[in-house]
Amino acid sequence: MQSDFYSVEEFSTRQGKGLQQALNYAYQNSPFYRRVFDENNLKPEQIKTPADYARVPFTTKNDLRQAYPYGMAAVPLEEILRIHASSGTTGKPIVAGYTRADLDCWAEGVARICEMAGVTSKDIAQVSFGYGLFTGGFGLHYGLERLGATVVPFSSGNTERQLSLMQDFQTSVLVSTPSFAIYMAEIARELGYNPRDFGLRIGLFGGEPCSDAMREDIESQWGLKATLNYGLTEVVGPGISGECLETAGMHILEDVYYPEIIDPQSGKSLADGEKGELVLTPMFKEAFPVLRYRTGDITRLIAEPCLCGRTTRRMDYITGRSDDMIIIKGVNVFPSQIEEVLAGFREVSPHYCLVLKKEKGFIKDLEVQIELTPEGFTDSFKELEALDNRIRQRLRSTLSLAPRVKLMEPKSLERTTGKAKRIFAVEE
Ligand code: ADP
Ligand code: ZN
Repeated sequence: MQSDFYSVEEFSTRQGKGLQQALNYAYQNSPFYRRVFDENNLKPEQIKTPADYARVPFTTKNDLRQAYPYGMAAVPLEEILRIHASSGTTGKPIVAGYTRADLDCWAEGVARICEMAGVTSKDIAQVSFGYGLFTGGFGLHYGLERLGATVVPFSSGNTERQLSLMQDFQTSVLVSTPSFAIYMAEIARELGYNPRDFGLRIGLFGGEPCSDAMREDIESQWGLKATLNYGLTEVVGPGISGECLETAGMHILEDVYYPEIIDPQSGKSLADGEKGELVLTPMFKEAFPVLRYRTGDITRLIAEPCLCGRTTRRMDYITGRSDDMIIIKGVNVFPSQIEEVLAGFREVSPHYCLVLKKEKGFIKDLEVQIELTPEGFTDSFKELEALDNRIRQRLRSTLSLAPRVKLMEPKSLERTTGKAKRIFAVEE
């Protein structure tokens, strides 16, 4: 799409106008933002440059929770055509509403993301994201349709049937979470198929982090090109950023969503390249506008030109959600750091989970449960103990903390057809 190739000046003009529009719109139509502006003695016309924009207070997940269900609406309910809600991975659901123009803008954005990933109107795309309140299924569905691809709206679950239809329909594009793609390959092998024979060409994966090891596993098992895309319900759903075929970070649709990176502690704006929390402003949203939404996702913006020629900045892979951060004995740990360590051991699979033992709300102990691969599995207690020690040592040097390691038999951890749940807490 043309808008992925604008010059830097063109983006800055468009963002300037877009932000002005978002501010005016929110001030005039949203009772929530009218109050925020008034409480801070702020008027939209005082904000003229991106530097001024930093004066607008952040909107947080908590604000949206408190507004449940319709407190963020800026149009009468009769203008809202659709409601979605977050899957509630980290608490009470957050509601999102869409006007006709919002749905149109969303579909257009997702179509752009799919096109960047190499999908064309000749493709047959199987959507294995859940259809329902979760934005993943419907989001990808309408975007792929907009692009002209043939959509198979399978939804999640029912893995065996997914595979058999995939074969019959000659599906060429798979839309799912990375964990489900891995699980499907596992089931395919159990049923006696070689996943490569399905002829999948491209994977559009999102909804959760995907480590390099997971991506390599998916690509080699299915023989497809895996691309990642990113989005969240609070801002729109999927279709905020996505990878081109260079797979070197996710291009943000900067003419629609204004990105910032802030220091999560101080709230100060950080420069391109610096790692911090992603803050997003959708500039043209009507039903549930949000300004400077703190996503909780930790990443950095990449401004260097991409080999594909697109000029939109990219966001790096998300290394964790700030609410996934585990603080144990004063040390901050992200699940992704543990995952990276595990990827260095060929004896263990990408399936792992973290069990937090809590006492009066404090984390006393962390246990990393890891599945062995069938090749890594052995009856020899000595070998297992040696592996256990090596993993523990590597974890200790990376995390400055030595969690307990529990090696599990292949296929003993729970599989998911949606987002993987990695963290479990038990109160002692
Ligand atoms: P929930 O918060 O209930 O999971 P959403 O479906 O809105 O509901 O999830 C959005 C979140 O999913 C993002 O904030 C981010 O943490 C995660 N996410 C989405 N896409 C990706 C991705 N490509 N890589 C890493 N995390 C992602
Ligand atoms: Zn690119």
